[in-house]
Amino acid sequence: MPASHSSTWSGVIQQYAEFLPVTSATPIITLLEGNTPLIRVPSFVEAIGGQFELYLKYEGLNPTCSFKDRGMTLAVSKAKERGSEIVVCASTGNTSAAAAAYAARAKMRCVVLLPHGKIALGKLAQALMYGATTIAVEGNFDQALNIVRELGETGKIEVVNSINPFRIEGQKTAAFEICDALGDAPDFHFLPVGNAGNITAYWKGYREYQNAGKSDTLPRMCGWQAAGAAPLVDGHPIEHPNTVATAIRIGNPASWQGAMDAVKQSEGLIDKVTDEEILKAYTLLARTEGIFVEPACAAPLAGLIKAVQRQLIPEGSLVAATMTGHGLKDPDTAIKTAGFEPIVVQPDRDAVMRVIGL
Ligand SMILES: *Cc1c(COP(=O)(O)O)cnc(C)c1O
Repeated sequence: MPASHSSTWSGVIQQYAEFLPVTSATPIITLLEGNTPLIRVPSFVEAIGGQFELYLKYEGLNPTCSFKDRGMTLAVSKAKERGSEIVVCASTGNTSAAAAAYAARAKMRCVVLLPHGKIALGKLAQALMYGATTIAVEGNFDQALNIVRELGETGKIEVVNSINPFRIEGQKTAAFEICDALGDAPDFHFLPVGNAGNITAYWKGYREYQNAGKSDTLPRMCGWQAAGAAPLVDGHPIEHPNTVATAIRIGNPASWQGAMDAVKQSEGLIDKVTDEEILKAYTLLARTEGIFVEPACAAPLAGLIKAVQRQLIPEGSLVAATMTGHGLKDPDTAIKTAGFEPIVVQPDRDAVMRVIGL
């Protein structure tokens, strides 16, 4: 008998093996990722004046606190199966955290290239703690990814960015989980778009589940970029992308075509929101629902606010949105955005009462 855990969840590869490129020869490197909560958020919907049901797929509750774990379990398992000893990635932070963790678990070496000074603090802490060789490139993500592509061509190192197709395969399992939880696909699926691997993966997942007869319908895929890093919306690569949402600070998405296909085939949309709109939605979600996400997740929430204003979402629709990463990833932005600081008092009951207003 297995150890007495209340859950029998064994990670996304075991759960969805029939949909994944694995065999009995694949060593499964897992930290029990997936199986994340799908949380209904009626107060947020009320606050934005919507008349639909919204469910948030809270991917911040994965082992390294972002959805990147879903793709990484598969990418690292397949690298291990092939006998690779080193994995490498360029990252705005969460891919490196996941790669470093899964490589440690697999007893492999991990090398991460990060844009110097543009990494949220929690993500940097993760790469260092998991023991990855951590290289800060004096450039942006796109430049770091170009270097990683060249390293991959040497044949000595396994690239685990989402240009590695196993990443997309693993990430599509989130769409399966949503269908399993709701009994069918939602009407709309909102998510942030950076390198565009995730929107590509969800669309693949929803279609495969429908083809397999596990769901009947398909959602409209609605991707949201940050205004300062919106190549897919603007129609050309952005040389100097900039946004407070560092996870989507990407000027030339690797899965450009995948994202555009998802939007077109699903009759969805791709659009952008400003940093100001992102930070407003970020705070609103935390205050109305007690759900703390990292700023990138607020792009689709700000997008929902726009969609409500434009009356794009019919009354009674079922809407899902992916909250890609945990709020604690980026404590600096949270503290700056909260709008107030701790109130310092003497260690005295009355002083505390005065602050409370009693
Ligand atoms: C990676 C990431 C994204 C962007 O996902 P893509 O697949 O690159 O579009 C969004 N939010 C968070 C928190 C991420 O880590």
